[in-house]
Amino acid sequence: MSAISIAEHLRTYCKDVGLIQSDLFVAGEWRRALDAARFDVLDPADGTVLASVANASADDARTAIDAAHGALGAWSALTGHARGIVMRRWYDLIRQHAGDLAALISAEGGKPYAEAQGEVAYGASFVEWFAEEARRVDGDVLQSPRGDQRILVIRQPIGVCAAITPWNFPFAMITRKVAPALAAGCAIVVKPAEQTPLTALALAELARRAGVPAGVCNIVTADAQRSIEVGRVLTTDPRVHHVSFTGSTEVGRILLRQCASTVKKCAMELGGHAPFIVFDDADLDAAVAGALTGKYRNAGQACISPNRFFVQSGIYERFVAAVAEASTRLRVGRAFDDGVAIGPLIDSQALAKVQRHVDDATRQGATLAAGGKPVMGNFFEPTVLAGVTPAMQMFNEETFGPVIGIARFDTEEEVIAMANHAEYGLAGYLYTRDISRMWRVGEALEFGMLGINSSAISNEVAPFGGVKQSGMGREGSKYGIDEYLQMKYLCVGI
Ligand code: NAP
Repeated sequence: MSAISIAEHLRTYCKDVGLIQSDLFVAGEWRRALDAARFDVLDPADGTVLASVANASADDARTAIDAAHGALGAWSALTGHARGIVMRRWYDLIRQHAGDLAALISAEGGKPYAEAQGEVAYGASFVEWFAEEARRVDGDVLQSPRGDQRILVIRQPIGVCAAITPWNFPFAMITRKVAPALAAGCAIVVKPAEQTPLTALALAELARRAGVPAGVCNIVTADAQRSIEVGRVLTTDPRVHHVSFTGSTEVGRILLRQCASTVKKCAMELGGHAPFIVFDDADLDAAVAGALTGKYRNAGQACISPNRFFVQSGIYERFVAAVAEASTRLRVGRAFDDGVAIGPLIDSQALAKVQRHVDDATRQGATLAAGGKPVMGNFFEPTVLAGVTPAMQMFNEETFGPVIGIARFDTEEEVIAMANHAEYGLAGYLYTRDISRMWRVGEALEFGMLGINSSAISNEVAPFGGVKQSGMGREGSKYGIDEYLQMKYLCVGI
């Protein structure tokens, strides 16, 4: 398929061409970068150029912070109810343009179109949820230890916020941050990933149409090189009071160090290395289905993707056979082709990492039960490896690809120790029909989220986030808005 055909696909599926934007969105306007620099957005399937987008510099980042700072007062002065009405209009427009947004996600991220539509529904749910939560930001009245005082607690918007987001969920990772920020009364500057700026810009266009006031939500796009200077401004400008980042643990550490210089509040949604544990007493069909949907979502490029499969000896052979058989039936292909379950990896480096993990495992004695090699371009076959051990690379770093590496275990104690043996603690999965074991193992596992007999764990109602070096803070849920609020205590003498 040529560059023209992916562009044609985009035009076919994205009917509202006004959503295909390529400049920075600052102070409610589409603007070129101050030095007019641009960068190319590529089709991950074959690297052909899809669009050319404004490449922000440090100066553009400062201009965006100026805009957010200027808009903050009026936006935060609105009632939560009034902000919620604007956000609800944004949500309605997102739902009306779900197909258009999915087309952008598929074109620049390679995600199969049906799956991209799922991401839009998921991402939109945060806008709807926080549009409702906007009017529920309440305070408290505490009983004073002194009779001549009253103690009030109010919660106020934290101020100007910055969000830095990854390419793997280019829509939902933005709404999960922008929606609570706006609901709380904050203004925000977003820097999306180099690979996926178009989805972010379309979201900004819909926010503009919904009547989100100029400067309340700004988007600065940048390539990987300039992301560093833009990120430095966002994490060091004293007018920014909160930084929310989703991405790798390595970059999270850099941003935390930078934020320390002006003591910003930080929310860090970082890397995962999820264990997927299947006990002998599990419902085999449910465990196999959970493994497939959990692992092959976005071709394995998800932070909560199971990355280490531990299966108890009594069910091990049957689990390996069933997962391998189902994997070979999955169709690998381009995002807009019919029936595609697995799209391309984001780039050639991602493909090389997957291949390295598979080669390392087979060299150390793992056996291939399905797949094992690239198909074409940046596509990799759904792959199942049996006999994986904790010494192998795939058990020590995120693979971020469509590879199921399975280890055998015998006892509960042994599997808990192996699962917890990781610097990460984002998500984990556990399949058992023994209710006592569910509690015992569930409480012993060191992860922020656990799927028990289910791998579909993320939604707007549940608190999303990790422990250990998977980060800090929670997104979504009734707790998610707290990131964007600060508490003030009023001591009233009477
Ligand atoms: P990444 O390399 O950390 O990049 C994420 C974002 O940070 C991108 O916007 C990137 O911009 C930017 N960035 C990179 N270096 C920067 C710097 N020095 N200063 C400022 N910004 C910088 O991660 P990724 O490869 O895109 O995403 C995959 C990782 O994200 C995985 O580890 C995955 O587990 C994690 N993730 C976590 C969650 C979660 O909720 N916990 C969700 C999704 C993904 P450029 O693209 O321009 O370089």
